[in-house]
Amino acid sequence: MEKNIVESIKNAIENKELHAYYQPQFDAITGRIISAEALVRWIKQEGEVVPPFFFVPELEKTNAINDVDWFMLEEACKTISKQIAQGTAVPISVNFSRWHVTEDAFEDKLNRIVDGYNIPHNLIEVEITESALIDESEKIREWIDSVRKNGYSVAIDDFGSGLSSLQFVKDMPVDILKIDKSLLSQNCENEKERVVLESIFYFAHRLKMVTVAEGVETDEQLGFLRTCSCEKIQGYIFAKPMPEEDYLKLCMERSGIYESKDILEVQTPASASQLLLDAVFMKYPLVIFSNLTRNSFYMMAYENFSATSCPSTGNFDELIVHGAATMHPDDREAFATTFSRENLLQAYKEGKPSVSLLTRQLGDDGVYREVETTDYFVKHPSVDDVLVISLCDNRS
Ligand code: C2E
Ligand code: MG
Ligand code: MG
Repeated sequence: MEKNIVESIKNAIENKELHAYYQPQFDAITGRIISAEALVRWIKQEGEVVPPFFFVPELEKTNAINDVDWFMLEEACKTISKQIAQGTAVPISVNFSRWHVTEDAFEDKLNRIVDGYNIPHNLIEVEITESALIDESEKIREWIDSVRKNGYSVAIDDFGSGLSSLQFVKDMPVDILKIDKSLLSQNCENEKERVVLESIFYFAHRLKMVTVAEGVETDEQLGFLRTCSCEKIQGYIFAKPMPEEDYLKLCMERSGIYESKDILEVQTPASASQLLLDAVFMKYPLVIFSNLTRNSFYMMAYENFSATSCPSTGNFDELIVHGAATMHPDDREAFATTFSRENLLQAYKEGKPSVSLLTRQLGDDGVYREVETTDYFVKHPSVDDVLVISLCDNRS
C-alpha cells in the first residue's frame, strides 16, 4: 500500500477514483429493499477495486477520514435524487467517523450538503460506530441530539463488536441499532449465541430502536433473526455492496413487487410461530417449557403477568416450591402435589395428555388472582425426555 495514504486518498478523490457502493437493507419478512448503506470503494485507474479495510483504518487515525465521509454523503445525496426522480427513494445510511463529533459546524455542513440536493432529511441516516461512543459520552450524546433535531436518523454501527455495554447504549438517543456480524459467528445454532442475540433484540425493541442485522449469510441466521423480530437484514444472503447503477436497477425491480404480496405468502415458519405466540399470550400470559427428565425449565412471561418476580430459567423442583409460595395458603399443598415431578411423570406414564389445576395466585401488587395452570405433555422429535408445556391462564 502507498506510503502516504492520506495524500493518496486526496488524489483519489480529485481523480474521481473513490466511489460509493451501496449495500441494500431488506425487510426481514417481505424481502423488499427498504434502505441501504453507502460503502466507500477506491477503484484505481487500472480497474483494481480496493476495499475500505486497506485505507479506512489508517485514515481514521486522524480526521483525514472526514473528507471521505463528506464525499460519501454527497454521493448518497446524488443517488437519492436519482431515485426521487424514479419514484423509488429509500433512505441511505452514511458512515461518519468519531472525528465528526468535534468537527466545527458539523450540523451546518450536513444540512448544506443535503439541502443542496433537496433531499428530505429523513432519507439520510448517520451511522456512528459503537467504539466511538466510549469516550466523551456526554459530547456524543449532544452531537446525536443535534443530528436528530434536524430530522436525520442516527444508527449505532457494529454493536456487539467491541466493549460498549447495553447500559451505555441505553443512554444514547439513537433510532437504529446495527448488530455486528461477529454476533452471528456461530450461525445462530449455538444456544449461548441465541440467548445473547434474543436479549439484544429484546432490549433494542423495548427502547424503540429499529434493528439491522449485518453480515447475514445463511438461512439459519435469517430464520433465527426473524424469530427475534429483527426488522432489517443487510448481508450477502440477499445482496453484496454494488455500484450505483446496479443498486438503482435492483431498487426498481424490488420495489412494488413485494409490496402487493400477501404477508402470509412470504411468512416463514419462525415468524408464523411468533404470531401464534402473540395469540397464545392473549389468553396465557405465562408459558413455561419444562424438561421433567432433566429437572429444568424455561419461562416466557408476557409483560403484564401478575407475578413477574420469577426466575426465567432454572431448576424445575425449585420453581414449584417458588410457585407454591406465591399461592393462597389454602392452595399451596394442592399446587405442590399436582405439579411435583413425581406426580407429573406418573400422569404421563398413565397416558394422560395433561394435568390441570385452579389456584389463587398472589401478584406482585399483593392481589390474589385465579390462575388455571394446565400442563401439557409434549414429545420432542429428537429426544425421549418427558417435556411439559404449562399454560397459565390469568383469569381475573
Ligand atoms: P460497516 O460500516 O460495518 O459496513 C459493513 C461491512 O460489512 C461492509 O464491509 C460490508 O461489505 C460487509 N458485509 C456486509 N454483509 C456482509 C456479509 O454477509 N458477510 C461479510 N463477511 N461481510 C459483509 P466493507 O464495505 O468492506 O466496509 C468495511 C468497513 O469500512 C465498514 O464497516 C465501515 O466501518 C468502513 N467504511 C466503509 N465506508 C466508509 C465510509 O465512507 N466512511 C467511514 N468512516 N467508514 C467507512
Ligand atoms: Mg456502517
Ligand atoms: Mg457495521
